[in-house]
Amino acid sequence: MNSVSDLDSLAGESIVVIGGGFGGLSTACYLADAGADVTLLEKNEQLGGRASTLERDGFRFDMGPSWYLMPDVFEQFFAYFGKRPDEYYGLTRLDPHYRIFFKDGDRVDMVPDLQANKEVFESYEPGAGDKLDDYLRKSERNYRIGMEHFVYTDRTKLTDFIDPVVFKNAWGLSLVGSMQDHVEKYFDHPKLQQIMQYTLVFLGGAPNNTPALYNLMSHVDFNMGVYYPDGGLAGVVDGIVELAEELGVEFHTDSPVAEIAGRRGGFAVRTEDGREFLCDQVVSDADYAHTEQELLPPEKRQYDADYWESRTYAPSAFLLYLGVEGDVDELAHHTLVLPTEWDDHFETIFENPAWPDDPAYYLCVPSKTDDTVAPEGHSNLFALVPIAAGLDDTPEQRRQYRDLVLDDIAEHTGVDLRDRIVVEETFCVSDFAERYNSTEGTALGLAHTLTQTALLRPPHASEKVDGLYFTGSFTTPGIGVPMCLISGQLTAEEMADDAA
Ligand SMILES: Cc1cc2nc3c(=O)[nH]c(=O)nc-3n(C[C@H](O)[C@H](O)[C@H](O)COP(=O)(O)OP(=O)(O)OC[C@H]3O[C@@H](n4cnc5c(N)ncnc54)[C@H](O)[C@@H]3O)c2cc1C
Repeated sequence: MNSVSDLDSLAGESIVVIGGGFGGLSTACYLADAGADVTLLEKNEQLGGRASTLERDGFRFDMGPSWYLMPDVFEQFFAYFGKRPDEYYGLTRLDPHYRIFFKDGDRVDMVPDLQANKEVFESYEPGAGDKLDDYLRKSERNYRIGMEHFVYTDRTKLTDFIDPVVFKNAWGLSLVGSMQDHVEKYFDHPKLQQIMQYTLVFLGGAPNNTPALYNLMSHVDFNMGVYYPDGGLAGVVDGIVELAEELGVEFHTDSPVAEIAGRRGGFAVRTEDGREFLCDQVVSDADYAHTEQELLPPEKRQYDADYWESRTYAPSAFLLYLGVEGDVDELAHHTLVLPTEWDDHFETIFENPAWPDDPAYYLCVPSKTDDTVAPEGHSNLFALVPIAAGLDDTPEQRRQYRDLVLDDIAEHTGVDLRDRIVVEETFCVSDFAERYNSTEGTALGLAHTLTQTALLRPPHASEKVDGLYFTGSFTTPGIGVPMCLISGQLTAEEMADDAA
């Protein structure tokens, strides 16, 4: 069980949190529980950040995250406040966890039954079933040690790694080397390698640039399972907002912050419409670069424009939200459609930014599990193609790509949606930039590359401004809903340490 250090020193502080994504919501809960007076200002009309909801003609789409992974992290988050997730939302374990259509016509389901998965592995490569056991044993160990010593514990300095306990536990962990090298040690078959690596897209990385430590994701996916919360990820947002309200957090939506100004002993946070919120401390969950470059004066920034230009951003995405007539029997709740050779797609994300000709993509069909997300007799689905952050997404480009994706779905899954669509919206690079003030329109933030992981990510506490803090996916531990919940805890702990 993760223990949270004492936050009592924050009692009585007045704190403004900028941004109502999972990072901001989580931080606000910890601070309010500690007795701080917390006001959260969110730019958009709803809370949840990248986990916003789109409603059209009886269809309700989760616009961003759709995989509920690491249920233990949610349990620990709620437990800190003396609650359980099921007091706020129910969970259904998905079966299959997901389906993969390989574009050579092959198709495979990964299911909650490990023995069945081992048989699938064995059918591709003799001995691969037992190797899956070995792989998952290691991945489970990495998960246990990694979560305790590296994820729930913020190690901000290199010397922190010299702690003998950490050193002992880090021994044998695959901290260095790439995921590509790690997976190749176990499996020769390219399809098995793809199955072990697809979760990297959640971290915004590619097999050759993501540290091997992240093989812990296979424990998450194979052993812990894939869940659907009632109401989708929006149901989780609602649950955490309800908890935050119980703890006394005050929310203001439609409140884009324009400036963080210093004043004697504290801050004045000004919104675009001229309101001013005075406080002792500020936490920003808005993208780090936006906060530093646009809300602070130049002398108060830790990084310059060159720093932000030189970062590796996690992919943006081309998203196509579709309400369609009838069923889509061939698809599972989570479906991946993968070219057997996917290096070209990763290359168009990280090396040579371009719209991928032969995309690897993800289809989400929540109406398979939840009949409240689509009118009767209809299906709710979205397609997500990871693309490079910063790409131009002109209306013409988006129209062409929409056609390419719908053709590709029909060809490779057998589901022809083209004349059944009743509701349709796209969301892409420029929308991420506009709606969330996202840097380069990245969907996810800073990629977890070898040089942007752990202490190499930007810090929670500003080194230039006392009392200014950062939370959410740009900081540690990083990208993903569970990680952002944990970043709320880490930020609050650092604030409490500084205040003590
Ligand atoms: C398409 C997509 C699919 C994903 N899939 C998954 C998944 O399946 N599972 C998973 O775990 N994770 C997934 N993720 C990642 C996950 O959603 C994010 O890592 C996480 O939600 C980010 O939370 P955050 O708090 O860091 O930032 P955000 O959610 O971006 O929150 C930041 C908030 O700050 C607000 N803001 C910005 N500027 C200002 C300002 N000036 N004033 C006031 N407010 C401001 C923004 O509007 C936003 O609400 C996905 C993300 C996307 C986009």
